[in-house]
Amino acid sequence: MKSMEKIVSLAKRRGFLFQSSEIYGGVQGFWDYGPLGVELKRNLKEAWWHDMITSHNELITNTGAPSTFEMVGLDSTIIMHPQVWKCSGHYDLFHDHMVDCRESKRRYRFDQVRGRWVEFQDKKIFVSTLADVEHELDEVRRRGMKFFRLRNKNADQLSIGDDSLTIDKLDSTEQVLAPDAKTLNTLTEPREFNLMFKTTLGALGGEENTTFLRPETAQGIFVNFKNVLDSSRVRAPFGIGQVGKSFRNEITPRNFTFRSREFEQMEIEFFCHPDQSSDWYKFWRDRRLAWYTKLGLSSESLIMREHETEELAHYSIGTADIEYAFPFLPEGEYGELEGIAHRGDFDLRSHMEGKLDPNTPKGQRMEVELGEDGKPKYRGSGKDLAYRDEITNEKFIPHVIEPSAGADRAALAFLCEAFTEDEAPDDKGNLQTRTVMKLHPRLAPVKAAVFPLVKKDGMPEMAKEIYGELKEKFTTFYDEKGAVGRRYRRQDEAGTPFCITVDTDSLKDQTVTIRDRDSLEQWRVKIADVSQELQSRINQ
Ligand code: ATP
Repeated sequence: MKSMEKIVSLAKRRGFLFQSSEIYGGVQGFWDYGPLGVELKRNLKEAWWHDMITSHNELITNTGAPSTFEMVGLDSTIIMHPQVWKCSGHYDLFHDHMVDCRESKRRYRFDQVRGRWVEFQDKKIFVSTLADVEHELDEVRRRGMKFFRLRNKNADQLSIGDDSLTIDKLDSTEQVLAPDAKTLNTLTEPREFNLMFKTTLGALGGEENTTFLRPETAQGIFVNFKNVLDSSRVRAPFGIGQVGKSFRNEITPRNFTFRSREFEQMEIEFFCHPDQSSDWYKFWRDRRLAWYTKLGLSSESLIMREHETEELAHYSIGTADIEYAFPFLPEGEYGELEGIAHRGDFDLRSHMEGKLDPNTPKGQRMEVELGEDGKPKYRGSGKDLAYRDEITNEKFIPHVIEPSAGADRAALAFLCEAFTEDEAPDDKGNLQTRTVMKLHPRLAPVKAAVFPLVKKDGMPEMAKEIYGELKEKFTTFYDEKGAVGRRYRRQDEAGTPFCITVDTDSLKDQTVTIRDRDSLEQWRVKIADVSQELQSRINQ
């Protein structure tokens, strides 16, 4: 099991991630990316944009897709017309339930507070913890013993139920020991809490000027559907991709960047004929999973979880989550990296006609939701957002498949996966423990580091020249300080896949040594070929 503590400490020490506004004590749920982190996240977003959008070849048929398809990009605003969020359903439905603890004054997400029944003599209490406590059973035992004032030698008198439960499955909270409390029954009734950040447009306050920071990038794509169609002449099936910031006022931001209040998403809305939507749903589910493994997440740590029918959003015919075994989760549990949802025609129709009724029984066509006065609750744009195929002349409202990924969660997963402690020889050839970030070369913040073996005999000059040339093409680092073994170690921690060393032979035969971060293999290459050699290894 990898230690989250070590990963967090390396991330800070080496400049991957810092707490936002740290010098003022930080703000919960906000994170800044340092010099290495910004490169990692940029590489990740660029890999996504390249693999999903720009390098997609719409003429190729052998991709395993139901047919050829087109992909284009978009960059829409964070603040949009307030009506967007009313018709999308976020205004009414985008909330979590929270509970407060009267004793500790802490606030929890209702569905995340869980625990186990603990019995001692004839008293039974429910010791609750949070969903992500790493050694949950140990924690329940510790708190149970404390509550019943039991000493270690009497620990076996305590009986603990095996299955953990969330408290929303309990009839009442009377016997619940809240996660940070010492007495029972301190939790309030759950209350709804809308996750959208409110803001005001212009200088005049007032309810009519209230709008929201977007909680997802997707709606910017739906409201631009017609613009993209008319301006780029794409033919269905096609997808629009967007990368950008989203904001959610999460009740309990935690687990490093996993649940932040400001984060970035990489989303695709894929528009297709309703008859083909189930096939496209399967295609995107499998394609997105393969993308993560191609970039280095191990398939043992990834799962694809299909949602149960009752778990599905009201508009969704199917949803699958790609989940990763983050080290901060209890063994056997996974956290969501990306959701792939079949959204039917819910979004486009809602923006046309008005918000559709989420209480429509499944399988029936959704009608516009009516308010108490019998009129549409939220009116749509009234614009025709249907698609007409210019060749077949068929007109339909496309169904949508939405692969929605989080750039920060993915960056965190790649950081966790990359973190490795192994052994490597030091300058004297003795094996020493080393920390190495085994990031895929495409994601690595720095692709190559150039070192002169020693700081004399023309080696620094030659190394600087190579550095200057490589820097034009890749993020490259130059280092001449300290023993070469220590310089390697620093690059290992930064995840730099290749180190290039200029030595005495380099001056004679114009060759250098390239060292591979993972295999520690070293080989000589002509200086003139270094760039080509790195290029081909990075893009593998
Ligand atoms: P969760 O259940 O974990 O709150 P969600 O199902 O609400 O997530 P979606 O609305 O499907 O998430 O958002 C798509 C993706 O955006 C998620 O898979 C995740 O990668 C990312 N994401 C969502 N909320 C956050 C957050 N608070 N912090 C970081 N990334 C997030």
